[in-house]
Amino acid sequence: MFENLTSRLSRVLDSIRGQGRLTEEQINTAARELRMALLEADVALPVVKDFVEQIKSRALGVEITQSLTPGQEFLRVVQQALTETLGGKAEPLNLRQQPPAIILMAGLQGSGKTTTTGKLARLLKEHEKKKVMVVSCDVYRPAAIEQLRIVAGQVGVDCFPSAVGQDPVAIASAALAEAKKQYSDVLIVDTAGRTTVDEEMMREIAALHAAITPVETLFVVDSMTGQDAAKTARAFADRLTLTGVVLTKVDGDARGGAALSVRQVTGAPIKFLGIGEKSDKLEVFHPDRIASRILGQGDVMSLIEETVRKVDQDKAQKLADKLKKTKRFDLEDFREQMLQMQNMGSMASLLDKLPGGAQLQAQLKNVDADKQVRRTVAIINSMTRHERRFPDVIKASRKRRIAAGSGVEVQEVNRLLRQFETTRDMMKKVASGGMAKLMRAMGG
Ligand code: GDP
Repeated sequence: MFENLTSRLSRVLDSIRGQGRLTEEQINTAARELRMALLEADVALPVVKDFVEQIKSRALGVEITQSLTPGQEFLRVVQQALTETLGGKAEPLNLRQQPPAIILMAGLQGSGKTTTTGKLARLLKEHEKKKVMVVSCDVYRPAAIEQLRIVAGQVGVDCFPSAVGQDPVAIASAALAEAKKQYSDVLIVDTAGRTTVDEEMMREIAALHAAITPVETLFVVDSMTGQDAAKTARAFADRLTLTGVVLTKVDGDARGGAALSVRQVTGAPIKFLGIGEKSDKLEVFHPDRIASRILGQGDVMSLIEETVRKVDQDKAQKLADKLKKTKRFDLEDFREQMLQMQNMGSMASLLDKLPGGAQLQAQLKNVDADKQVRRTVAIINSMTRHERRFPDVIKASRKRRIAAGSGVEVQEVNRLLRQFETTRDMMKKVASGGMAKLMRAMGG
């Protein structure tokens, strides 16, 4: 996801990283390159302008603190501006409505509405322990109604029956009455989509909205359509109060333009990302984490959450306890994380979240990702126990020995150590309470 943008931005950041002092000229050059990178990523022009202006004024005004190099300062400025462009804080779903909380799904045909309805139902059922009912108001396409019925069956939620030719408002009202009767917590209403925004569609969804007053109206949009995604979302937002946007097919979106434009163009927060066709491929949108990922800094928080959810709960809990007690994360923990990840299946989606992972992934396009994990583990295995527990002792001669021992180049040892350090920094932050809270929240 967003590989092109990440590699362009990394080049800009790399060119500044080594500098001892940031001059105005360097900032201007970097700002120009940033602008090019964003335009190439198909970000809407007003968003690009605003973003670059912010970077310029903030980078010029920045006081270089003692602990950070100018390159790191610049990265921090870009990261902050990117987080803000993406919406600042994560905005969770609001389900505070007299049950059932109603979620209305809007969007063009093919955007991924029905798939997302199923994913959302699963997420609410599994993570929030909600009783969910879904209903299709697409009275034009029998296939759409059937598709939702199948998806609901797969994820194990109730599906209120509907049929072609019925009145959408009547279906939704009947579904609402049934959901109340069954004490459902959430009712998700899937609607008809057209290939373009048209008047009839807008009237129909506005009538549905007025009849059932949903607490959430989510606009589902295909991120691969780039700037058009933001434009379509805008057309909807002009007619209907959107409470959030779901960007789909992010797994195939190398550019990232829609993600960066949608918030500013529509004013509505992105709430979820669709990252694959399967029903578990829905991710809560955290602007700060996505900014990190786009900048090649990794997204260790999401990685941990995913790990906690999918892999050995006992081991994850042990790691959390250890971190809390010792406030230390060493190469043995890192190796443990790597091995657990290997058990999780999709390496690609995980690599995406590791610092430098997007580049690594690009380099590894044709390489077996599991092999890479085995190599990393082999490198760590070539270290002494002391080195694994106190990685700071690993200097040049030890690196040469470790490289020789595991049959790799010294650069690879260096890369591993860099990756480890970034992970350790993030883990330290997490360990000061955040992790424990996280584990509790997830019922881990
Ligand atoms: P709808 O017409 O808006 O209801 O769209 P569908 O839910 O039928 O989705 C259209 C196509 O997009 C289907 O083939 C889905 O499998 C696919 N799709 C939906 N979301 C995603 C996603 O996040 N990633 C990928 N790769 N495909 C998706």
